[in-house]
Amino acid sequence: RGTARVIDGKATASRVLEWVTARASELERAGTRPGIAVVIVGDDPASKVYVASKARAAEACGFHSITHRLPDATAQADLLALVGQLNGDPAIHGILVQLPLPGQLDASRVIGAISPEKDIDGFHALNAGRLWSGGGSDAFVPCTPAGAMLLIEQVHGRELAGLEAVVVGRSNIVGKPMAALLLAANATVAVAHSRTRDLREVCRRADILVAAVGRPRLIEGDWIKPGATVIDVGINRVEAPELGDGRTKLVGDVDYAAAVDVAGAATPVPGGVGPMTIAMLMANTLASAARSVGLATPR
Ligand code: NDP
Repeated sequence: RGTARVIDGKATASRVLEWVTARASELERAGTRPGIAVVIVGDDPASKVYVASKARAAEACGFHSITHRLPDATAQADLLALVGQLNGDPAIHGILVQLPLPGQLDASRVIGAISPEKDIDGFHALNAGRLWSGGGSDAFVPCTPAGAMLLIEQVHGRELAGLEAVVVGRSNIVGKPMAALLLAANATVAVAHSRTRDLREVCRRADILVAAVGRPRLIEGDWIKPGATVIDVGINRVEAPELGDGRTKLVGDVDYAAAVDVAGAATPVPGGVGPMTIAMLMANTLASAARSVGLATPR
């Protein structure tokens, strides 16, 4: 029991960050210091934690990093004006507007206002379109699915021909780009969602199962094909009575304890996909800075 290989996202993310740091310092010696601007509107506690860790990672990579903190009641026009200013700032190569935004703001308009050349989250429609149309090295790929692909590569390599992949979840930030990347790697891809009939049977087909749902431990052990690779994107905070004092803990969308008895390889939560997201964000910023001076994307 418990025989699945544990895919270590934390170690992989540190290797990516080390590589980014080394490339960033070469680029800086050649005259271009990568710069990132993070914008947060309001004081959603989870968003504040994410934004702080992005800024910390950027500084650790040697990037120029600024965080713009705007009040909850910020008007759409003011946010768009800030995005416009950052689009024109030559010291900034990556712009990230932390989601979700307060209700008065239209996230898709704000994302659409970010210059596609600085859209390190890869959420702009142009980058999403490039990803789906095989638009080559110029597309910014959303960080969480890009990080998940690096973890899949550790098990299967880059070529997924002949493998069936099932992605549970179809959000624009995780599920859909994940499906596009798996397809580009020649997997046979199914995308499941809340209207899928008999999700268990669909999941059981998967050689590679990616869960990006946001439902704690939705995917049970007997939904997993023996030997499959299980990538758990979910981050869910649940009560942890075993820890006492009304404490909570993070769990994924997969019942990990059950999954490790069935799967061939699996990502834990925390320590799996989570750390990869920020590492890939830094890699995207580095790539953007390199492109801004006409250099090829570092590999
Ligand atoms: P969304 O809420 O945007 O999307 C969830 C998707 O899951 C939807 O497509 C929804 O279907 C589907 N879904 C919901 N309930 C079920 C169900 N019972 N059965 C099948 N499908 C279902 O979430 P995100 O994609 O933004 O995030 C997913 C998870 O990943 C969350 O836990 C989030 O915290 C985590 N996350 C982790 C990141 C990381 O860095 N590791 C980064 C981003 C997210 P439908 O479309 O039909 O509604």
